Amino acid sequence: MIGVILYGAGLGMFGLLMRSNWSALEREVETLAGTLHDSLKPLLPAEARPSAQLAAVLPGLCLAGDPCPSPPSLISRHAVSVTDPERFYLRLLDPRGVLIAHSPGSPSQSPRAQAEHLGPAWSVVVGPGGERSMQYSIHLHRSHTPVHSGAKARELDWGYLQIGRSLRGLDAERQRLWWAIQTIVVLALLVAGLASWWLSGLAMRPLLVAYRQQEQFTADAAHELRAPLANLLGVVEAHRRQPPDDAVARDQMLAAVHRQGQRLSRLISDLLLLARLDGPQSAAAVQPCSLTQIARDLLEETSEAAAEAGLTLKLLDVEEEAEIMGVESELYRLVSNLLLNAIQYTPRGGEVVLRLGRERSQVVLQVQDTGIGIAPSDQQRIFDRFYRSDPGRSRRQGGTGLGLSIVAAIVHRHRGQISVASNHGFGSVFTVKLPMVGGRILEDLRVAGNT
Ligand code: ADP
Repeated sequence: MIGVILYGAGLGMFGLLMRSNWSALEREVETLAGTLHDSLKPLLPAEARPSAQLAAVLPGLCLAGDPCPSPPSLISRHAVSVTDPERFYLRLLDPRGVLIAHSPGSPSQSPRAQAEHLGPAWSVVVGPGGERSMQYSIHLHRSHTPVHSGAKARELDWGYLQIGRSLRGLDAERQRLWWAIQTIVVLALLVAGLASWWLSGLAMRPLLVAYRQQEQFTADAAHELRAPLANLLGVVEAHRRQPPDDAVARDQMLAAVHRQGQRLSRLISDLLLLARLDGPQSAAAVQPCSLTQIARDLLEETSEAAAEAGLTLKLLDVEEEAEIMGVESELYRLVSNLLLNAIQYTPRGGEVVLRLGRERSQVVLQVQDTGIGIAPSDQQRIFDRFYRSDPGRSRRQGGTGLGLSIVAAIVHRHRGQISVASNHGFGSVFTVKLPMVGGRILEDLRVAGNT
């Protein structure tokens, strides 16, 4: 496309330049023809034929039929350049189009061609060597003043005056310009090609990254799904080799199948939730939600799990008016994932604290534990899908490796930020900041939902 545009623009420029050069030459020749015509008019002999009288009027021209001397002499002040044989030639013809006189070096034309060139004022004549000239033909008049003094001069048709101007310079210029345009277009195309190659590489980079992430995610998901399925099939296969009436083995098998089934179900529902979080949000689901209420509810719900794990669970610094616009089920999931992780990764005797505060127009939610902590190198990666610092421990405790990516996706959808600070071996603090209720936020969420 760039090539076509460049080429079109180049040809357009070329055409315009050539046209303006041509018009300038036409004007030059027309002016010369007019001046010559006016100078010759009173001097022309009565008869339009090669004669000594005519030779006297136009000493620089050769009469038809006579040998033509060279170099030419000047005929008048205005005709200096007209008789320049390199650029101009001059021809005089009688009313029938028969050549009477011509300047040395004017291209010889057949009588038929001469007659044809008389019709239109302008014509292009090609000389014997292929050199082109533009030729301008006008009627030549003789002014005849009657003998009685005071009478007006009469203009009589005398013949034709033809002025030719060599197009050698113009043709050379055209040739030069034509090649310059070809070279410029080819060079510009080359540069444009290289630039588009480079720019498309730049534009493709984020797409490639997203594509690789998607590929990695699919491979990880397949791997995660395969493990419980393989366990499940292994248990069933092993049970088929047992005696059919072994009730203990059957119960063990059913418990194992149930465990693996639950793991699969959790994994699939987490995958579905992530897929939903990646897609557009339904505007109808967005409503004012009290994070205070959500925190209290979840503290109550997880207190049993915390007690079982031998942990103290506390809610501190509660901001009573922590209300934000959002999707309630997603906000429940956000807080519960953080709380369950804190319980899961904190050894017996530890403490999990949930704080809910306010910072300007944001609600700040913090989940702090005195657990195993996260190594600095892992702190950026724990929000990646299926990333686990300790895969064995996570799987044993029923983790899918998707909990924190779900949390990050929910925070992102609610225009918030999440960060982690951890002292490896001593505990971690997850901090979530979410914008408080406001018309703009609601509007933003609606727009995000509609797109
Ligand atoms: P899962 O817990 O199912 O493995 P998550 O996405 O919830 O997956 O967590 C990713 C990883 O981050 C976990 O495997 C664990 O290594 C680390 N992690 C998350 N929360 C904590 C925490 N409170 N303390 C220490 N490590 C944590």
